[in-house]
Amino acid sequence: MNILLLGSGGREHALAWKLRQSPDCGALYIAPGNAGTAGCGTNVPIAVHDFERLAAFCLEHDIQLLIPGSEEPLVAGIYDYFGEREALRAIQVIGPSREGARLEGSKAFAKAFMERHGIPTAAYREFTAEDYEAGKQYLREHALPVVLKADGLAAGKGVVICDTHEAALEVFGQMLQEARFGEAGKKVVVEAFLSGIELSVFVLTDGRSYVLLPEAKDYKRIGAGDTGPNTGGMGAVSPVPFADAAFMERVENRIIRPTIAGLAAENIDYKGFIFFGLIKVGEEPFVIEYNCRMGDPETEVVMPRLEADLLALLSAVKTGRLSEVPVSFEKRTAATVMLVSGGYPGGYDKGKTITGLDQVRDSRVFHAGTRAEGDTVVTNGGRVLAITSLAGDLKTALERSNACAAQICFDKKYFRSDIGWEFL
Ligand code: ATP
Repeated sequence: MNILLLGSGGREHALAWKLRQSPDCGALYIAPGNAGTAGCGTNVPIAVHDFERLAAFCLEHDIQLLIPGSEEPLVAGIYDYFGEREALRAIQVIGPSREGARLEGSKAFAKAFMERHGIPTAAYREFTAEDYEAGKQYLREHALPVVLKADGLAAGKGVVICDTHEAALEVFGQMLQEARFGEAGKKVVVEAFLSGIELSVFVLTDGRSYVLLPEAKDYKRIGAGDTGPNTGGMGAVSPVPFADAAFMERVENRIIRPTIAGLAAENIDYKGFIFFGLIKVGEEPFVIEYNCRMGDPETEVVMPRLEADLLALLSAVKTGRLSEVPVSFEKRTAATVMLVSGGYPGGYDKGKTITGLDQVRDSRVFHAGTRAEGDTVVTNGGRVLAITSLAGDLKTALERSNACAAQICFDKKYFRSDIGWEFL
């Protein structure tokens, strides 16, 4: 089977690495890819939002499976784009329809969906500029802290947690009156703050049945001890120690099953990954957010723990035979540590030579912001490399990833050496 994978992060390298292991994997193309994905297949210089060129490429190269790594093409409707065109219809696209992708693309849509299907989530109300005054009144009376969310995609920056009513009113004004988040902030979700510990749960679904993948916990903040600004993710671990069998049973019964049943009941076409951003409050799981694709860096710990053939699973999504594919997980713990460019998540330089990659023994390096320059690999983004190690216990897995992170060098390299800290 010929495959086109879209994206250029650590997530896409991990997916490409896993796909390459399948006996059914034919030609594997990655658009645009990075220096790591080039080792699993062929990089193609096409942007993930350029549907026209992607479609032409698929036809030229007899692609049967298209896998968008990030939400951008999915929210922009790549599933429908292929489904609506005769010549492209036979190409299987992993992901939801444009409607299904609203679970990630619109927080108000996701909240209303959860409300309709009785899925546990924080209490909320949505407001637009038209009910600005009512919104201000609602905020003044809201318990603190209060969470304000721009409705649309805002690259992880559209959520503001406010400790005072003054701050909440100011942010509310910025969102609705000053268009601080542009289109994304034209609608605002005001939500109760939930206090607990977060984790990410993933399924692959054909819209009726699903397969549960290994869960993970990621570390978003730039600084040790979860301090400083948010990033795309500085590391992840899987399994998650507090996600025991009883908790995961609640997650399946109260969240995953009602979500899939809700999609089916509303006739929403969804044939791909669902990423449940959850929070454990006491013993109870609540949904913080839905994403319509895998997480990054979570994929870098999930794929190494997935023993099943990923391509067999993805193919079964099309035939509706997901439940027939045997799925088992690696029992060992996976830990990934992200190497980033100094300055990230603010400004940083690119083009720094990376050394030490050839000395890696006990870990797997997934490339993110990298680029090949002749025989050398140079940095090409904020998040540069994800280093994943598997071991019998979390401590050893982390020690291996940290040792490897110390060994690989580039100018102004930074990483968090305390990933998984609360579990040690
Ligand atoms: P991401 O960058 O993960 O895509 P996002 O912009 O889609 O984020 P959310 O995931 O909804 O936004 O929220 C971002 C973060 O804000 C969450 O991971 C969580 O830490 C915090 N958060 C969001 N909603 C709540 C809530 N109701 N109570 C407590 N914390 C919350």
